[in-house]
Amino acid sequence: MTTLFISDLHLTDERPGITRILLDFLYGQARECEALYLLGDIFEYWIGDDASMPNYAEVCTAIGALSESGVPCYFMHGNRDFLVGNALATATGMQILSDPTVIDLYGTATLLTHGDALCTDDIKHQEFRAFALNPDTQAQILALPIEHRDRIAQGIRLLSKSNNASEAKDIIDVNQQAVEDCLRKHGVLRMIHGHTHRPATHDFPLDGQPASRIVLSDWHENEGSVLVCNESGCVSQKLS
Ligand code: MN
Repeated sequence: MTTLFISDLHLTDERPGITRILLDFLYGQARECEALYLLGDIFEYWIGDDASMPNYAEVCTAIGALSESGVPCYFMHGNRDFLVGNALATATGMQILSDPTVIDLYGTATLLTHGDALCTDDIKHQEFRAFALNPDTQAQILALPIEHRDRIAQGIRLLSKSNNASEAKDIIDVNQQAVEDCLRKHGVLRMIHGHTHRPATHDFPLDGQPASRIVLSDWHENEGSVLVCNESGCVSQKLS
């Protein structure tokens, strides 16, 4: 059996190829796995379950069908879809995980995180993160009329297109000290995260022990990516 991890699809109407690859995956390969983890920025933006679920109806239905088929689905917020809430979780059968969460992955304690919390050199992003994760901020946003929320989301997207687009070169990478502090704090030697759009496996020593950081790939119009883990380890596979 396998456990699957995906992140950073940045689903939007503008990139229908990604939605198609995801739907094929959810109705295909994902049906055979032990658990599926969605580690953030699955949606390019999410302005509240009441407003966003109709826009992503096909995807929500497919996740719901996967859960219904007996595959546990876990969702961790990213910095784009931080407003995913309990209504979506209930409708799709997904369980929302806090960031970070440590799981036992075939005998190896593994920390899961979206990854942006580790990008401590990006002061602006950390300010945005503190703002976005504040429950009062979220309640205030969700209290706005849908059209108003939509305008805010479009505004944020325009801003991020100009100074922090989805190209890896425009995203500040994780800070190694933050990575090591995080692993130590949680007493683990392996983490899996997304966000940086820099897929890789980094092996490094941590206090004399071998540690690793697996970075998930973002998705492109004609190419998705899934991290497949089993008893013998984790490998990245392309999806088309
Ligand atoms: Mn992100």
